Amino acid sequence: MTTHADASALFQPDNFIDGAWAPSQTGHRFEVTDPATGTVIAHVPESGPQDARAAADAAAAALPAWRARLPRERAELLRRWHALILARQEELAALICREQGKPLAEAHGEVAYGASYVAWFAEEATRIYGDIIPDQQRGKRMTAIKEPIGVVAAITPWNFPLAMIARKIAPALAAGCTVVGKPAEDTPLTALALARLGQEAGFPPGVLNLITASRAKAATAVDTWLADSRIRKITFTGSTPVGKHLARESAATLKKLSLELGGNAPFIVFDDADLEAAVDGVMAAKFRNGGQTCVCPNRVYVQAGVYDRFATLLRDKVAALRVGLGTDPASQIGPMINARAVDKIARHVDDARAQGARVLTGGERLAHLGPHYYAPTVLGEAHAGMALCGEETFGPVVPLFRFDDEAQAIAAANDTPFGLASYFYTQDVRRIERVSRALESGIVGVNEGALASEAAPFGGVKESGYGREGSKYGLDDYLSIKYVCQGGL
Ligand code: ADP
Repeated sequence: MTTHADASALFQPDNFIDGAWAPSQTGHRFEVTDPATGTVIAHVPESGPQDARAAADAAAAALPAWRARLPRERAELLRRWHALILARQEELAALICREQGKPLAEAHGEVAYGASYVAWFAEEATRIYGDIIPDQQRGKRMTAIKEPIGVVAAITPWNFPLAMIARKIAPALAAGCTVVGKPAEDTPLTALALARLGQEAGFPPGVLNLITASRAKAATAVDTWLADSRIRKITFTGSTPVGKHLARESAATLKKLSLELGGNAPFIVFDDADLEAAVDGVMAAKFRNGGQTCVCPNRVYVQAGVYDRFATLLRDKVAALRVGLGTDPASQIGPMINARAVDKIARHVDDARAQGARVLTGGERLAHLGPHYYAPTVLGEAHAGMALCGEETFGPVVPLFRFDDEAQAIAAANDTPFGLASYFYTQDVRRIERVSRALESGIVGVNEGALASEAAPFGGVKESGYGREGSKYGLDDYLSIKYVCQGGL
C-alpha cells in the first residue's frame, strides 16, 4: 500500500524510493519515541535487503541523467530545497526537538546550520574546476577533469538529525551523484521531512532515496549496499566500530569512504589564558546538545597555577544550567537520546568517582525529570586511568585534569587513538603556533569554543576517520579525477 499523506504534512512515515513513498517490503515497522517521555511519535518502515536494493536500483537508474545536468541546474534545485527548508524551519525545529530532545533554541540553530550546507554546496556546484596541465610533449594535450563518483550511500547518526544528512546529501547532489541514505533509528523523521522537501523542490525521482531501519536491522539493510558494486562511495558519521565495519565490508567492491567517527577532544587551559573566556569556551563547546556532539571536549586539562580558580568558575556556571524538556524555553540541557547513552554516562562518572575524582557539581541521574536525564557535572582531579579519559562520554560531564607544563599537556592531549577536535586557551602568540602544530586533530579551536561552519573543513585524523565535510574541500569526496590525454595535435 502506498500512502498518500496530506501535502502539507512535514514528513510521511514511509521509505522514499524512486520519487515515491512506500512501506517496507518486509511489511514491518518500528517505533520512534520521544526521548524525553518515551511516548511513541511514529512508526516507520523496518527495511530489509529488498528495500535497500530497490533504493540502489533507483539511484543507479537516475545517475546518468542527473550527472548530465548542467551544474547550474543542479544548483538551482539545491537552492529551492534550501528555501523550502527555511520556509518550514519552525516545524523542522519542533520535529528535531521532539525526536532528538535538544532544546528548541538549539534545534532552530541546527536547522540554520544544516541549511547553510545546502546553500554552500549550491554555490560550490558551479565551481568544480579541473586543470589543463602545461604541455609536457609536443602534440599532446593533457587535462584533468572532475566527475561525480557515482551512487553514494549516506549513513547518519542521531545527534544532528537534520545537519548530518544535509551535509552529505547537498555535496553529493551538487557533484552530480545520486544518493541512497539511512538515517539513525532514533531520529529518522527529520530526514524523511528533508526528503519530502526535496521532492517538493523538484528533485527527479531516484536522485535521493531514503530507507529507515531499526538498530537490529540496520546492518542487514546497509550490508546490501556494501556488497553492491554500483554504489561507489559510503559517507558515514557515527561510531568508530561501525565505521571500521563499513570500511572492512566495502573493501570487496573498493568503495571510496568518508568516515567521520568518534572523538575524544582535549581542551587545554594554560596559566596565561583569559580564564573567563576559557570557561565560556568550555560552556559553548561542551554543553551543546547536552554534550552529545563528537567535537565536545571530553577531557579538560588545566594548568596547576589556575586550576582551582578555573574549577570554581566553571562549577558555578555548570551548576546554574537549567535541565528540562526541550520544548520548555528555559531549558538549556534536554534529555539524553536513549537508555544506552545515559547508562554510559553514569558508568563513566561512577568509575571516576571510585578512582578518586571529586564531584564538584552534578554526578547523578535526574530521575524525577525522566529516565534519560543526567545532571550537568564537573569532576575534579580526574586522571588517565579513568574510563572517561579513554572513551568519549557523550554527555554533560566535564572532567578536569591538572597539568604542570606545556609538553605534559600536549602529550596527554595526544594520548588517544582519536583526533577530531581539540581546543586550547592561551594569550601567548608563540605558544599558539607551537600547540596548534603539535595537536593531533583535524580541527583546532584557539581561544574559541564554537568551531562549526559550512565554510570550514570538518573531519578528523587517526581513528576519528578521514574525509572532510563543508568548505571548498567538501566536494572532493564526491568526485573522481579523470586524466584525459589527447595526442596527434
Ligand atoms: P551511535 O553509537 O552514536 O548510535 P552508531 O555508529 O552505532 O553510533 O550509529 C550511527 C549510524 O550507523 C546509525 O544510522 C546506525 O543505524 C548505523 N549503524 C549501526 N550499526 C550498523 C552496522 N552494523 N552497519 C551499518 N550501519 C550501522
